Amino acid sequence: RNILIILGFSFIMAVIALIAVGLTQNKALPENVKYGIVLDAGSSHTTLYIYKWPAEKENDTGVVNQIHECKVKGPGISQYAHKTSDLDIYLTACMEKARKVIPISQHHETPVYLGATAGMRLLRLENEWVADNVLAVIRDVLDSYPFDFRGARIISGGEEGAYGWITVNYLLGKFTKKLRWLNLMSYGNESQETYGALDLGGASTQITFVPQNQATESPQNALYFRLYGKDYNVYTHSFLCYGKDQALLQKIAKDIQATNRTIQDPCFNHGYSRVMNVNDLYNSTCTWKFKKPLPFNQLEILGTGNFEECQKSVIALFNTSQCPYSRCAFNEIFLPQLQGQFGAFSAYYYVMKFLNLTSEETLSQEKMIDTIKNFCSRPWKELKMNFGDVKEKYLSEYCFSGTYIISLLQEGYHFTPDNWKTIHFMGQIRDTDVGWTLGYMLNLTNMIPAEQPMSTPLPYS
Ligand code: AMP
Repeated sequence: RNILIILGFSFIMAVIALIAVGLTQNKALPENVKYGIVLDAGSSHTTLYIYKWPAEKENDTGVVNQIHECKVKGPGISQYAHKTSDLDIYLTACMEKARKVIPISQHHETPVYLGATAGMRLLRLENEWVADNVLAVIRDVLDSYPFDFRGARIISGGEEGAYGWITVNYLLGKFTKKLRWLNLMSYGNESQETYGALDLGGASTQITFVPQNQATESPQNALYFRLYGKDYNVYTHSFLCYGKDQALLQKIAKDIQATNRTIQDPCFNHGYSRVMNVNDLYNSTCTWKFKKPLPFNQLEILGTGNFEECQKSVIALFNTSQCPYSRCAFNEIFLPQLQGQFGAFSAYYYVMKFLNLTSEETLSQEKMIDTIKNFCSRPWKELKMNFGDVKEKYLSEYCFSGTYIISLLQEGYHFTPDNWKTIHFMGQIRDTDVGWTLGYMLNLTNMIPAEQPMSTPLPYS
């Protein structure tokens, strides 16, 4: 009888133990995730991005997501050249936000990178010491936070193009070797051919894509990557001074006449006027070639709102008279024949979004021109009334910006009505902003393996 009691007791204990194991197994284990921070120090503004990914899937593709974006209040860091002591307070709000978003236990292992782009490239050209000083102060500020600060530097135009290209293709899942049966099923019509990347900033613009003809005529425009077991020969070029803010300064500096302190400018809407300091115009390296003695310190821009005339003036910024290669973009820069689909982001997207041109999957050149032509012809008073909530600087420049984008694509890169539909204006993919920052972090944290990981990752896993 005792044995029966012992057996019965043991059975009950075993059942309790099994239930307990079951319960613990069902309990969610602590999330094993990692975080990373990248600050994009652009020419007109700085944005802080926080990324998150599952630690055990680090080498898979498509697993990193943006979980937070913080726009730093104020202009780009190059504007702090002579007030570097303000950089601390400038970065505080977004860095404090990062402290709150990322769990405290993860702070010490969270890498922080700051990359500065063309605004700082221009400042460095003007005065290297001043640019270095801005970065030194930023390093001190970022180092004072509990994160793992890994550096603040000016990235080259080539890097900016390359990392933007990596971001687009990573987020689109183009580096994933899809299983054949998956390709045949739901992904049947989606090719693994990479997208080109078109990036428009305030001070520079980048074009990056895999050309059909792999033999390059211009080694300085060639990049080579081995990613997830595949080789990529990529073309890239960054045009300094051809971001939309510097291009506008170039245009005004080109058009101003010493005989008249007023410019009738077709790239601004009728009824719009703006006063500018000549010093501000000539302060930029980008306008030096147009510098002429002017008998006034201020100039006045009066909008006349005419797309065709605006385009004529903008096109004159692209010198296409000479080409030392078999084909060129402009200013004697090699450009291979365009190939495949393109993702156009940053200011390309901001401008097209405002003009309501991003909702269709593909956009014809004709529709884009019609929309911008119509926008340029609208009186400033009417725009102010209809778009009172839009920042005046942006609103007043959408006519120029739209015209500049068309001209850059058409005259600069030689897109035609036939291949216009290969351009896709994109702001985010899977809730993550398209730009160079994600690619930069993936690269610096060694999250893009050269070889395919042993377990083939599924797309968007
Ligand atoms: P960067 O600061 O170099 O990255 O350049 C960003 C460019 O986008 C600048 O020319 C900004 O003025 C412009 N930009 C940013 N947000 C908007 C917006 N909402 N509408 C129009 N342009 C914008």
